Amino acid sequence: MSTATPQKFEFQAEIKQLLDIVIHSLYTEKEIFVRELVSNASDALEKLRHTQITEKEIFDDKLELEINVTTDDKAKTITIQDFGIGMTRAELVENLGTIAHSGSKQFLKAMGEGGAKNSNLIGQFGVGFYSAFMVAKSVKVYSHSWRGAEQGHVWSSDGSGSYEIEESDGQRRGSKIVIELKDDCADYASDWKIKEIVERYSAFVSFPINLNGKRINTIQALWLRSKNEIKDEEYTEFYKFQSHAHDDPRLRLHFSADAPLSINALLFVPKDNTEKLGFSRLEASVALYCRKVLIDSKPKDLLPEWLRFLKGVVDSEDLPLNISRETMQDKALIAKLNTVITKRLLKFLEEEAKNRVDAYNEFYAEFGIFLKEGAAMDYTHKDSLVKLLRFESSLTEKGKTTSLADYVSRMGSEQKEIYYLVGPNRAALESGPYLEGFKARNLEVVFCYEPVDEYVMGNVREFDSKKLTAADHADVKLSDIPKPEGALSEDDTKKLTSFLKESLGARVEEVKASDRLVDSPALAVNADKFMSPQMRRMMKAMKKDGADEPVKVNLEINPRSAVMKRLFETHTTTPDRAKLVAEQILDNALISAGLLDDANPMVARLYKLLETA
Ligand code: ADP
Repeated sequence: MSTATPQKFEFQAEIKQLLDIVIHSLYTEKEIFVRELVSNASDALEKLRHTQITEKEIFDDKLELEINVTTDDKAKTITIQDFGIGMTRAELVENLGTIAHSGSKQFLKAMGEGGAKNSNLIGQFGVGFYSAFMVAKSVKVYSHSWRGAEQGHVWSSDGSGSYEIEESDGQRRGSKIVIELKDDCADYASDWKIKEIVERYSAFVSFPINLNGKRINTIQALWLRSKNEIKDEEYTEFYKFQSHAHDDPRLRLHFSADAPLSINALLFVPKDNTEKLGFSRLEASVALYCRKVLIDSKPKDLLPEWLRFLKGVVDSEDLPLNISRETMQDKALIAKLNTVITKRLLKFLEEEAKNRVDAYNEFYAEFGIFLKEGAAMDYTHKDSLVKLLRFESSLTEKGKTTSLADYVSRMGSEQKEIYYLVGPNRAALESGPYLEGFKARNLEVVFCYEPVDEYVMGNVREFDSKKLTAADHADVKLSDIPKPEGALSEDDTKKLTSFLKESLGARVEEVKASDRLVDSPALAVNADKFMSPQMRRMMKAMKKDGADEPVKVNLEINPRSAVMKRLFETHTTTPDRAKLVAEQILDNALISAGLLDDANPMVARLYKLLETA
């Protein structure tokens, strides 16, 4: 039944409720109404394209499949027109007068559950077509269905309880939504503002979007195209546009999956790690799309924290546009996406490490710190992440690295643990006293140069069922090797260690002879199980409690070294001088361990020793 006179309808009660909230909300990001209406326009065009396949008789069949947005800042209006499928009179009533939209239903439910004070919910849910009423004094929807026999109509409402439908002649196919803006929302009639909003949310909508006659979406949604058709330059251009970047991407992963979710993803690793350069902590910035329409440009839970350096796009058809972090169902969807994408990315990095070694190592030098963070904190992906870590070791050349898997492949059958040493650089570790016992036994030691390494190794704990052990730890036991001639006898060694303990008093917990020394006279090992030298340094830097407590060390001495033999000879003949030497030996050991807090007493003592030299 069609009628020439306007006919008035009451909105369904739920719509009234929804409109009341939308109109009176103080929600600040009102701009999402543009996204919602452009998405509806794009859906309408998509539906028409489908209809064209099966139906011969389409009204206004020559029209381009495009979206035209026009603004009029004098009249304070914005118009969004599509040449899509359109709506009949009955469809106008059904679609715009009753609640079908699942997002709106969820929204109302959340508001009912005490969300009424939280106007942010609008942004999270999106309320589809009705979001127009956040900015509108009145909304008119001119629509003509693709069915030629139908008459065109105009639906109009000011968002209060009712709407009107009237016949309207001379319409093109599709829908044209004219919004008369509220006075305080007149900005949305400005060309630049709408351009910015459309570029943010709808840049990749596949149909042309013209703003005041000018096409504004020119970059394609590359992630939906087939890999072999895309040139490198296109990827780079896309990366720069989408991530607002100026560099060329370092690595890229373009993939799609069908199960358990439909996913199209295009991910990039940038050239530089800006966190390393001292810029602020990165924010998750892989954007989440549903069929080319932006859902969230910074979704927090889409990827694990340690992947915050990634850029790019994840698109899943299985997501509702108005996805909400509040509902369990949507949370589960995002968690599923997270798992699939993270696994795929880890596999990709493993392949890179195998097939493009140099590129991987360059990536690792820049972004390895994130993989370490993941290895230490992300229990789910720990095993894959540890495989991706790289270190120098006592067997690599300077600047070359090894994986822990390769380390294990070189281990002798009697070696049960993986040894590592943390220090500022290779030279410091190689010249320190800790390595020599391992070298003498042909045991490889992993070198760690970054302050976080100790924490990482401590959290990773083991690899391939082999314990990760700090080579400078007090508990390390090394196998016996033939002792060189000319060492102090066991008896003499005992005498010397008691002398040392007596001389050094509370500065040492214990003094004993050591197996792990070959050339150096002595070394200090941390006797404090709860605070390693590195931790202590860090706490000192942060001025934390406990950092000022005297260090607790064990002194291990080398009964084969000339210094110890000489000390043994003189400790009875010139005990005062021998005491000074003992103190000096301990300080030297503390320096190697990075545990000497104040060097001044040592300098004074050295002068005293030089006087008697
Ligand atoms: P949703 O788009 O999520 O279904 P909306 O409230 O935005 O929810 O829209 C309700 C319904 O109105 C849509 O499902 C669609 O059938 C119809 N509709 C909205 N905009 C258009 C349009 N531009 N062309 C054709 N139909 C539309």
